[in-house]
Amino acid sequence: MSAPVKGDLSDTEKELFVVIAAGNVQEASRLLGSKDVRVNCLDEYGMTPLMHAAYKGKADMCKLLLQHGADVNCNQHEHGYTALMFAGLSGKTDITWMMLDAGAETDVVNSVGRTAAQMAAFVGQHDCVTVINNFFSRKRLDYYTKAQGLETEPKLPPKLAGPLHKIIMSTNLNPVKMVMLVKENPLLVDVEALEKCRKVMELICEKCVKQQDMNEVLAMKMHYISCVLQKCSSFLKDREDKLDGLIKSLLKGRDSDGFPVFQEKFIRECIRKFPYCDATLLQQLVRSIAPVEMGNDPTALSVLTQAITGQVGFMDAEFCTTCGEKGAEKRCSICKMVIYCNQDCQKLHWFTHKKICKTLQETRQKHEAESAKRLEKQAKEAEEQKALEETTNTMENLSVEKSEVASTSDIQIETASSEPIPVNAE
Ligand SMILES: [Zn+2]
Ligand SMILES: [Zn+2]
Repeated sequence: MSAPVKGDLSDTEKELFVVIAAGNVQEASRLLGSKDVRVNCLDEYGMTPLMHAAYKGKADMCKLLLQHGADVNCNQHEHGYTALMFAGLSGKTDITWMMLDAGAETDVVNSVGRTAAQMAAFVGQHDCVTVINNFFSRKRLDYYTKAQGLETEPKLPPKLAGPLHKIIMSTNLNPVKMVMLVKENPLLVDVEALEKCRKVMELICEKCVKQQDMNEVLAMKMHYISCVLQKCSSFLKDREDKLDGLIKSLLKGRDSDGFPVFQEKFIRECIRKFPYCDATLLQQLVRSIAPVEMGNDPTALSVLTQAITGQVGFMDAEFCTTCGEKGAEKRCSICKMVIYCNQDCQKLHWFTHKKICKTLQETRQKHEAESAKRLEKQAKEAEEQKALEETTNTMENLSVEKSEVASTSDIQIETASSEPIPVNAE
C-alpha cells in the first residue's frame, strides 16, 4: 500500500474519523477490520486517527488503534505535532503514558521547536509533563548495552538492562522498595553489577543535564537511583546478608517516636550530593528540606517524590509503612496505626515497630476514649439544644399567632378609620 496522502480518504476512513470523535470503540473496531481502512491514514491537516483519539482524550480508542498498528511517531501533521504532543495537550496522563510505552519519541519538536513536554507545560498540563519527563524508554537504556566507539565491551551487560529498567520505571521512590527491587533479582545482588549500573545511571544523569532540553527531573531520579545502588554495593562489600542489613537500617526507627532517622539522612544526603549545583530543582529541594527538623513533615522522601513524580500526599494511610507501595490494606492488629502490603512487609518492620507498637496502641486508645467522650458530650449538647429549640419554637409559634391577631385587628382599625365620613354628619 502506498504512503498515505493528506486528505486522501476512502469513505470508510472518513467514517472512522467520525466514529473516533464520537468515541465509539466497537464501531471503530469494526471499521478497522475492513480492507479499505488504513490505520495511519491522514486527514486534510495530516492528522492520523491516533492523533485524533489522543487529542480527544479517548484512552480505549488509542489502545485499539495501537493494537491495529497505529504509528505513534507519525509526523505528517501540518505543524509537526505528534500523537504524544496531542496526548500532552489533552491532559490525560494515561494516554501520555500509553504513547510513551508504545515508543513515542520525546525529543521530536513541532514546527516552532517545542517538544511534547514543553507544549504540555505551555498549556498547564503539568501531570503530563511529569509523565513525559519521568519516562525513560528501554531503548534509551539499551544504548548502553552495546559497545560504543572504541569500547571492547558495553558499559552495561545486556542481562542487567531489564532489572535496571524496572528500577528506573518505579514511581515508588521509597529506598526500601528500591533495595527490594535490587534484591529480587540475583543478577543485581553483586558488587560488580551494581557498580556498572551505578555508572550508567550517572552517565544518563549527566546527559539529562547537558542535553539541550534539560530534564532536571529525570537527572535527579537517575542520581537518586545511583545513590541507592552505591549504598547497596557498599553494604554488600561489608556484609554477607544480601542487603537485609541495609533494609533494616533504612527501617530502624528512633526510640522516641519510631521515626526512621537513617532513611531520612540518607535521602537528604542523596539530594545534597546532586552534582549539578546550578539546577533549579536541586535548589528548590534543598530549600524545602533544610529548615525541617528531623522527624517533622515534610520528610525528604515526600519532597523528593513530589518533585519527581508529582505525587502529593502519598504518606496517607493507604501506603505501606515498610516499602511505600500504594494500596496497602493489612493493619497491625495491636496498634492498628500502621499499614502494610502483606505479612512480609510487616515482618520486616516488626523489629523496630515492636518498640513503639504498645505506645501507639495506648495513644490510639486514649484518643478513641477521648473522642468517644467528646461524641457523648456532643450528643448530649445536641439533645439539650434540640429541647431548647423546641421550647423556643413553641414560644415563637405563640408570638406569631399573637402578632397575626394583632395585625388583623390593625387592619380592622385601619378599615374602620379609613371608612369615609358620612357627608350628612356635617
Ligand atoms: Zn510493603
Ligand atoms: Zn503495631
